Amino acid sequence: MSSNTPRLTCRDLVMGASEYLDGELQAPQHRLFEQHQEQCPGCRGMVTSLSRTIEGIRHLSHDAAPSRVKALLDETMQRVNKTRS
Ligand SMILES: [Zn+2]
Repeated sequence: MSSNTPRLTCRDLVMGASEYLDGELQAPQHRLFEQHQEQCPGCRGMVTSLSRTIEGIRHLSHDAAPSRVKALLDETMQRVNKTRS
């Protein structure tokens, strides 16, 4: 089937970034995330720094992660919303 592949927007990627990094996405969606990053250096950089941050937080504390990651995501999302409206 060659129906048009659903494309992720930058906002979709940011919203799903934590699931993506946690490996919670279904395989097809995971692939969409990777495809988007190949074509979008901005999101690639965001995901890279986000994953580093998440790993750093996990090393520091096992319990503090979720809320801090959420705060970071909110920040990132606001930045994305500002640059692309
Ligand atoms: Zn993007």
